[in-house]
Amino acid sequence: MSKPDLGIIGGGQLGSLLASAAKKLNIKTVILSDDKDAPAINFADEFIYGDYQDINIINNFLEKVDLVTYEFENIPYEILKKINEIKSVLPSPEINKLIQNRLTEKEFLNKNNITTTKYVSINDLDDIKINDKFIPGLLKTCTLGYDGKGQYKINNANDLNNDFDFSKGYILEKIVNLKKEISVVVTRFGHQKYEIYDPIENYHEDQILKHSKIPADISDEIKNKALDWAKKVAEELDYIGTMCVEFFIDKNNNLYANEVAPRVHNSGHLTINSHNISQFENHIRAVCGLEKLETKKIYNAKMLNLIGEDILEYKNKKFKENEFFYDYLKKEVKAKRKMGHLTTIEK
Ligand code: AMP
Repeated sequence: MSKPDLGIIGGGQLGSLLASAAKKLNIKTVILSDDKDAPAINFADEFIYGDYQDINIINNFLEKVDLVTYEFENIPYEILKKINEIKSVLPSPEINKLIQNRLTEKEFLNKNNITTTKYVSINDLDDIKINDKFIPGLLKTCTLGYDGKGQYKINNANDLNNDFDFSKGYILEKIVNLKKEISVVVTRFGHQKYEIYDPIENYHEDQILKHSKIPADISDEIKNKALDWAKKVAEELDYIGTMCVEFFIDKNNNLYANEVAPRVHNSGHLTINSHNISQFENHIRAVCGLEKLETKKIYNAKMLNLIGEDILEYKNKKFKENEFFYDYLKKEVKAKRKMGHLTTIEK
């Protein structure tokens, strides 16, 4: 079977790391990005810059590829659907549509008996006042929020005033008394065909992932439940490719699914060095219909995200043989921007 040429929408670090994994498998990648300085320009075989809404750009991109995947979930559904009519898009646009909205995402999880945090849909100030049992809570936009963007802590029903614009649609989520956060990365190749990584433990600062480690320090009971739930999500979505479920564990050891990422995930970066097959390679294998190989952990590992100016001291640093530094080669250093990461394996 000849190998397909793969189109990737999005040119950030996830697109770059996908392109690097594809190269290892001799798969050609063409990246489409609406940022002319997107870092993936350094890693993909071909790079197309343009507006995702521009039909000429899309057609040019589609002429060069056999199938399409994406590195971020906030692509308008209509665009993915249109692309899917010409070249197949994996994971399917319908999955992305369901997951990119926090309300439909949480309804889906609860329908499948997967516990989420308590939440309520909010359309105006009165909704907050009558739902004070969700306070203290986090008001989150239903769409387009990530890394704490579009989130407001509500300690009191009067925290917001009449000027607040509710038109985007929000949920109010009860704050969980967090003990730990974990994530499960899983690649689904077809009906009941998986490669799944053990839970990864994550620590956030200012709602941005700061570091991750594998294995997570959790009980077998929580581990098995998280693995079962992640597999169930992938199966019920009929997902093809790598995805991630983020979980909260509260002080009473209850497990809650926080959100689903229909893509490779930052917490899974350490799999490049900890496992024989990374989350990126497994994604490429699954969407391109390549062989599913048994995925095994070789080393325990931890990963540190280099955010904003953190990167500067690493650029010229000497690393030990168990340290692996990844520079995303972003042109501009900005506060809160993920600039690179460092993975340390335990030998
Ligand atoms: P999210 O964008 O929903 O993934 O939230 C980003 C981060 O904010 C999470 O990883 C948590 O550290 C924190 N967070 C979000 N929602 C809650 C919640 N309901 N209770 C406690 N912490 C939360």
